[in-house]
Amino acid sequence: MSEFALIEKYFKAGASAMVPVANPNAKDHLSVALGIGDDCALLTTSQDELMAISTDMLVEGRHFLPGVNPQWLGHKALAVNLSDLAAMGAQPLAFTLALALPASDPGWLENFSRGLFQLAKQFNCHLIGGDTTAGPLTISITIMGSVGNQQVLRREGAKLGDDIWVSGCVGDARLALGSLRQEWSISDLALAKVLPRMHLPTPRIALGLGLRSLASAAIDISDGLLGDLRHLLRASHVGAVIDVSALPISASLAQQPETIRWQCAAAGGDDYELCFTASPEKREQIEALSQKLSLPLTRIGFVSESAEAAIDLLDSQGQAIAASVTVNLLRSFDHFA
Ligand code: ADP
Ligand code: MG
Repeated sequence: MSEFALIEKYFKAGASAMVPVANPNAKDHLSVALGIGDDCALLTTSQDELMAISTDMLVEGRHFLPGVNPQWLGHKALAVNLSDLAAMGAQPLAFTLALALPASDPGWLENFSRGLFQLAKQFNCHLIGGDTTAGPLTISITIMGSVGNQQVLRREGAKLGDDIWVSGCVGDARLALGSLRQEWSISDLALAKVLPRMHLPTPRIALGLGLRSLASAAIDISDGLLGDLRHLLRASHVGAVIDVSALPISASLAQQPETIRWQCAAAGGDDYELCFTASPEKREQIEALSQKLSLPLTRIGFVSESAEAAIDLLDSQGQAIAASVTVNLLRSFDHFA
């Protein structure tokens, strides 16, 4: 059973039987406005404010290599959670930290907490509690942020003809991982450039806030661009046409053979960029936001009609790429596949 089928069958079905219908007029009590299925859940905290909440866990040997620099790990554990707030257009507020540690190693903890708090300070996000236990190294963070209910970004909302955009560049983290795992070999210089993209992702909070009035839908890219885009398309009941040659990639990735380039850019995980849709009327404003944030925002395609959230991939000549080539690119990372 896939990761997503498992969540659907054992947790979403039970949870949706309990979730009260969102009451936009609830003034004096908390209610659940959105449950399982988006980057964050949403609680109504006042007439027009929502609290966005998300949990992400990192497990040694699964999400990071044993022996990784603990300062990087502290950064990454919080960054991946901040990224889910960014995808909802939420302002970070606070987080809890649950830790399973094989040993209480002061040097390790010193460095881990340094990485964690450097990023927490940058986003004014407060550690408010957690839990600590002995066990195989696992870090689980639950993060909370706030967003107005008219401003929140969701996976649903993409409209036919909307542009599809992606921030920064994609594929570097996967290029680095593949090199460390000896799936391919890249130059020392290229590796030095892409390693920080794997270990120290930058959560796109300012972009999420800037997109509140511009994007029709958004998701963060944690499991691979096309697979994550597919989650957005499914939630919005639409499809997409994507120009593979328009995918923004670094110079290090551009030097690699085409198959590695595509695999990393289209299906590599751990990018923590935002993929979003917006009406073509918003292009100028989105380009202005890109300038303001000094962050490239690239149009990679458009929203099409499809009941199955189909993604059609085109090459640089605008020719359809055969399904036999694209089948592996469309599959996002699944822990149980
Ligand atoms: P993301 O990659 O944005 O962190 P995931 O792909 O991990 O999101 O999860 C998809 C959705 O399923 C999210 O809304 C998440 O909260 C929910 N989810 C994942 N695991 C569980 C679980 N064990 N119980 C309830 N909901 C879950
Ligand atoms: Mg996410």
